[in-house]
Amino acid sequence: MNVEQFYPLFLRSEKAIIDSRKIGNNDIFFAFSGENFNAATFAEKAIDEGALAVIVEQKDFENKDRNIFYVPSTLEFLQQLAIYHRSQLQIPIIGLTGSNGKTTTKEIIHAVLSEKFNVQYTLGNLNNHIGVPLTILSIKPEHEMAVIEMGANHQKEIELLCSISQPNFGYITNFGKAHLEGFGGFEGVIKGKSELYDYLKNHQQTIVVNENDPIQVEKTEGYLPKITFGKESSDYEFESFSEEHFVGLLYRNEEAVSKLTGEYNFTNLCAAASLGLHFGISFTQIKNAIENYTPTNMRSQIVKKDGRTLVLDTYNANPSSMTASLQNFITFEGSKTIIIGDMLELGEESEKEHQNILNLAQKLGFDEIITVGKNFKQINSSTVSFENTLELIEYLKQHKIQSENILLKGSRGIALEKSIDFI
Ligand code: ATP
Ligand code: MG
Repeated sequence: MNVEQFYPLFLRSEKAIIDSRKIGNNDIFFAFSGENFNAATFAEKAIDEGALAVIVEQKDFENKDRNIFYVPSTLEFLQQLAIYHRSQLQIPIIGLTGSNGKTTTKEIIHAVLSEKFNVQYTLGNLNNHIGVPLTILSIKPEHEMAVIEMGANHQKEIELLCSISQPNFGYITNFGKAHLEGFGGFEGVIKGKSELYDYLKNHQQTIVVNENDPIQVEKTEGYLPKITFGKESSDYEFESFSEEHFVGLLYRNEEAVSKLTGEYNFTNLCAAASLGLHFGISFTQIKNAIENYTPTNMRSQIVKKDGRTLVLDTYNANPSSMTASLQNFITFEGSKTIIIGDMLELGEESEKEHQNILNLAQKLGFDEIITVGKNFKQINSSTVSFENTLELIEYLKQHKIQSENILLKGSRGIALEKSIDFI
């Protein structure tokens, strides 16, 4: 069984899935075998429940009469099928990577482009070697464009994801201190993320460049085609302003106020607006998209609770996004408490980076600093600190935080959002 033989069956399917619990009618189920778990044992059941076909990587489970097909590697077959599907699609694909802000930027680009086009996009955070092919396979004939988020924590990952999604436009949100361990330091991050530029250059595709980012400028110097923003001499220039902590964007004489907080979101909005303008969407439509996009995903989200303002940024954290978040939060008027969780996956740099953040927090002068996680606890002897979110919750049950503004930010593994109900 090769992908070309399988493709006609795929075209008749509803969607591609990897979770046997989510099988719907006419789906194609890609069964992966793990160490403790072999999804192929569900192959027959999947067909009984309406799946159109199942791909298994163990010969014993093959049953061609029932559309259960053996391949040597389910992952490779999934990726190859996505590559083949992509090559049949005549639509522009926008690829995104970067250390921070990929999902947010993807969501805003999707909102903006949807003003005029039928746009498919990465659902949630499905941005890895499995998520990207699944997203590509979810592109249907009615889609006119797609926005694909590509995540990476080591070299050559973006190269692989580009070979699958074959983007025509690409944007790197930023180069930050994230996944330092896997990339081998900051230089490694730049190299790894720039694999998107390498792909675009090799295929003469368009690079979107924030001209306020010296690394982006340097890496794309002299290259065309590109779409630029950020400077007066750029293709598009926007001015930022804020309205009650929400980031606003001014283009010529028109204003758009987002429902996102954090100055860094200005850049994310600029990238989306530039792409929108490039594709012939008017700023009035872009404004409509930006003003109607409400984050509900724990990224730069503001909620009111008992008269206090909570900034929820609990989805993720690394030194760059933590710094940006603290610098944004200090501009809030009134008393301020920060609850910051460990930044995971920092390898050797971990202790130093946690110390830097704690120093920054103390220097900025928040009224109250609470840290959560073992890394912070080790170095934090001067403020309230907990090993984990459960300990924080026990504390919050006894102590109501009085500050008018409260920031929650930490890595996914710390799950600070579990404490929200107790604040
Ligand atoms: P992941 O690697 O988990 O997929 P991501 O790159 O998709 O992350 P988002 O989920 O969009 O990033 O945002 C995570 C956090 O990063 C935000 O809540 C915010 O604190 C910070 N952030 C967003 N945009 C930027 C940016 N342009 N520069 C720096 N930090 C940013
Ligand atoms: Mg993401």
